[in-house]
Amino acid sequence: MRILLTGAATAALMISSTVAGAQDLRPDQQAFFGLYKELVETNTTVTNGSCTLAASKLAARLRAAGFSDDQLTSFSVAEHPKDGGLVVVYPGTSKTLKPMLLLAHIDVVEAKREDWVRDPFTLVEEDGYYFARGTVDDKAQAAIWTDALIRLKQQGFKPGRTIKLALTCGEETSGAFNGAEWLAANKRDLIDAEFALNEGGGGRTNGTPVSKGGKLLVQTLQVGEKAYQDFTLTVTNPGGHSSQPVPTNAIYQMADAVKAVGSYEFPAEFNDTTRAFFTKSAKLRGDAVGTAMAALVANPADSDALAVVDKDKMLHSMLRTTCVATLIDGGHALNALPQKVTANINCRMFPGRTPDETQAALAQAIGDPAIAIEQRVKNKPIAKSPPLDPMIVKPVESLAAKHFPGVPVLPTMSTGATDGLYLAAVGIPTYGVPSVWVDPDGNGTHGLNERIEAKALYTARDYLFDLVKALAK
Ligand SMILES: [Zn+2]
Repeated sequence: MRILLTGAATAALMISSTVAGAQDLRPDQQAFFGLYKELVETNTTVTNGSCTLAASKLAARLRAAGFSDDQLTSFSVAEHPKDGGLVVVYPGTSKTLKPMLLLAHIDVVEAKREDWVRDPFTLVEEDGYYFARGTVDDKAQAAIWTDALIRLKQQGFKPGRTIKLALTCGEETSGAFNGAEWLAANKRDLIDAEFALNEGGGGRTNGTPVSKGGKLLVQTLQVGEKAYQDFTLTVTNPGGHSSQPVPTNAIYQMADAVKAVGSYEFPAEFNDTTRAFFTKSAKLRGDAVGTAMAALVANPADSDALAVVDKDKMLHSMLRTTCVATLIDGGHALNALPQKVTANINCRMFPGRTPDETQAALAQAIGDPAIAIEQRVKNKPIAKSPPLDPMIVKPVESLAAKHFPGVPVLPTMSTGATDGLYLAAVGIPTYGVPSVWVDPDGNGTHGLNERIEAKALYTARDYLFDLVKALAK
């Protein structure tokens, strides 16, 4: 059995080195590349892919590395057989240290062959980049975590903490079966951990590949995120013949309501993460916005500073709950007065803010009791920011200094959302660790021709391997 596996592994290496021109890679990097390529080339879109298949391929690799069946839990539910995932448990020796959890989603955003330059599900290496859907989001992290456990096992590493890994589906599609949410609700003990490491952090270049003399400007550690909530606005009217209009018109009422939402600004606020982010970036920027950021930290009531900072859409969103109209639908005929108009207001709530208080603020801003407001999905968890815990932050920063020398590490709060929300809601503080870097255009994640600089992938892998080892003790 062992010989067979070794033979298969060698064959995989030979294939990878011819396909990927991986002659500059170390042997351990070549083995990783085989795993990464297999994962990337397994379609895991919600429409015609299968996370279950991708998870089973990774499970096979973990089994081959020596993980026993009782350390590998494959899961899926009958209604979503292709949206399965995998939980791996690498037992630790400590009786007192609680486990740590590595999280990554293995599903990807849709990608149509006809829209892409290359086949989105074939990993193509060109000019120092790997191209394919998921090369960044989030199969880089999923492959790095899986490979880390395989390597630790092969090295006979005995962690103090138990290291757990959850590979899940459904992160990219709102309303799909979400593996992280399901695990938090149904397998809380299996994933129990003192903290979790997740996507959401990462680096940013100046636009030139680092392998070609470009500069990695910053790495980020994501500490907390905003919560996603949609509100449906509805107004109804008896309607009638359009030849005899009346003053109360559902479309006009909704137009006023939507405009009121547009001009309403939620109050600016800080938490520990955003305060640290503003303080650190103010120093790094050294421009007018940086000066305003520092002034705002010193005095959150400084309206002049706030006006400057708010011109930056990312900083504006980091400072408060935001709500924006995203869909509108109304009327039923060209020649009739509208009987019903609905609009969707998409809100991103600041950590700690509830859907109810956000709804109340919207209702007050709209000021028209004829507009009904409803929460589209109810009982979603409230975003909780994890603490800036030195136990996490120190090794994150010191190992970053080793692998990304001279690059500042900024704590950030994501204005978007990740699966970290579900873990945070069940008491597992979740950190988006520094990881691969992307160029200022975002490398086509969620878009076309997604790509990752090969150097980013291998550097992040070395960094995260050391980080897992350091945190596992
Ligand atoms: Zn994504």
